Amino acid sequence: MSVPTHLQIAIDGPAASGKTTVAHLLAQRLKILYLDTGAMYRTLAHLALQSGTDADNEDALVRLWEHAHVAIALDDAAPLGFRIAADGRELDEATLHSKQVTAIVSTIAAHPRVREAMVESQRRIAQDGPVVMAGRDIGTVVLPFAPVKIFLTASVNARVERRAAQLQAAGIDVSLHQLAREIEERDRLDRERAVSPLVAAPDAHVIDSSAVDAAAVVAEIETIARGARR
Ligand code: C5P
Repeated sequence: MSVPTHLQIAIDGPAASGKTTVAHLLAQRLKILYLDTGAMYRTLAHLALQSGTDADNEDALVRLWEHAHVAIALDDAAPLGFRIAADGRELDEATLHSKQVTAIVSTIAAHPRVREAMVESQRRIAQDGPVVMAGRDIGTVVLPFAPVKIFLTASVNARVERRAAQLQAAGIDVSLHQLAREIEERDRLDRERAVSPLVAAPDAHVIDSSAVDAAAVVAEIETIARGARR
C-alpha cells in the first residue's frame, strides 16, 4: 500500500484500549512514523516526581517541560517503537508505566498550558511526514484534519487483562482489582477535564476491540485508510 505524504492516522481512546499496540503495528505495516503521545505526558509526570514538583502546579510543570530537554527519536527497533529521553537519560517502559507515574499523569495532563506545550511538539513531529499518532485528543485537537480518525474502545475487563499482561511483561507487579480501579479513575479524569476531554471526534470511526485482536483492528484501519484516499 503506497502512502501519500499527507497521511495522518489519529487513534484515540480510553486507557488500555490497545491504541499503542495497534498504532505501532499499523505504523510498521505502512512504514510511517509512530508516536505515542501518552509517553510524553508520562515523561513529564516522571520529571515531576523526580524533582518534587507538585502535580497541581501548572507553572512549575510547564517550566519543567521547557527546561527538561526531552528528545523523542522515532526508532522502530526500540521496544516501545520510539525512544524518549529527558536530560540525556532514556526512559524505559517500567519507568513510564510505574504506579507513581500512572497515579499523577492525568492530573498533570489536565492543565491547559501543559497541553498547549505538548500539542505544539506533537504537531511539529507530524509535519515531518505521514504519521500514526495515538492519544486522547489527536483527532479532536492535535490533528483535526487527519483524514483517518479512529476511536478505539474495549470493555473494562478486556482492557484490564491486556494492561496486566503488558505490565507483567515489563516486570511490573499488578493486582487486577487495583488495575481496574486505576483505569476507571484515569478514564473519568480524562473524560471530565475541561480542556480537550477524551471524546470521539464526530468524524471518527469507532472500533470496539473487546473481542478482536490487534491484527484484526489494524486490518480494519487499513481498509478505512484505503477508503479515505479514494
Ligand atoms: O496513553 P497513556 O495511558 O499512556 O496516557 C497516559 C495519560 O496521559 C492519559 O491517562 C491522559 O491523562 C494523558 N494523555 C492525554 N492526552 C494524550 C495522551 C495522553 O491527556 N494525547
